[in-house]
Amino acid sequence: MGEKVLGFETGGSTFLSGIIERGSREIRSINKKKIDQGSKEEYIQDVLENLEKTLDNSEEDIEDIDAIGVVSAGKWDFEKGEVTPPNLPFEKDSIPLGRKIKEKFNKPVYVENDVNAGVLAEVLFGHGKETDSRYIGYLTISSGIGLGLYDREKEEIFSGETGQAPEIGHNVVKRNGFECGCGGRGHWETYGSGNGVVNLAEKKIGKKFSAKEIYDAAERGEKQFVEVIEKSAYYNAVGVGQIINSYQPGTIVFGGTPVLKSTEVVFGKIKELLENPPRKNEFTYVYQENMPELRVTELGENNILLGSGAIALKKLEKCRLKI
Ligand SMILES: [Zn+2]
Repeated sequence: MGEKVLGFETGGSTFLSGIIERGSREIRSINKKKIDQGSKEEYIQDVLENLEKTLDNSEEDIEDIDAIGVVSAGKWDFEKGEVTPPNLPFEKDSIPLGRKIKEKFNKPVYVENDVNAGVLAEVLFGHGKETDSRYIGYLTISSGIGLGLYDREKEEIFSGETGQAPEIGHNVVKRNGFECGCGGRGHWETYGSGNGVVNLAEKKIGKKFSAKEIYDAAERGEKQFVEVIEKSAYYNAVGVGQIINSYQPGTIVFGGTPVLKSTEVVFGKIKELLENPPRKNEFTYVYQENMPELRVTELGENNILLGSGAIALKKLEKCRLKI
């Protein structure tokens, strides 16, 4: 039997866990739970119960599990096993998520930022298996925009001096532009993400629509929404162009709900602009033959949960909890 790990992902509104086996994209006994707006202690209790329930619902006991992978947005402290997620009710607090999981299950625990884990999911289970690119990027376009970058030769996730890089969604694309959740202005994700199209539509039409309504209307060809999407796509091409110029990855895999659900109006338009820019070198300095391969993830919405399994299977020393 193959190596098996327990994967756990916490997002802004739900958390998920499941059993992942080396060599298979299938996640077994997936358990999903809405995050209650309770205290930090209740949150941790819920996480531990969720993981136990996954084991209860599976054929495996904890003895059959080799390691546990835990992913969350935000910055991890590998020495303390704590994370500071940006979008939970107790936002300013550090949560001893990794430490509590380690104490409870007494297994090796690997932790990582969610988008960084997303790139490792591509390497182990997705396009990374097919490509010979040394540098692979995973770009998620959802309510925000995030990038994970991996060097296959050195087996390293690029995460910068403080472990948070590359925070590419907060690159400025317009001076004095829309206000970002981080407090800045004109950041890429305020134009290119799901929240970005909401901002652009509100400015153009003077009314608030959901991101889904905007993407759907653009897909139906409704003119004013098509124009909103085109503007957003332009900023996305600017952002992806910055990634290409800065890191020159061989492959960029795109994920996130808008990319998966509205592939043509989100991913298709970015690809079209980068391949046929309005002006030569409008977005990228590199020549066409050196452009990275641009792909949509085949791992769907499960990319990040698979990523939690991938970090536990890959056993990168950097990701191992030091407690
Ligand atoms: Zn920002």
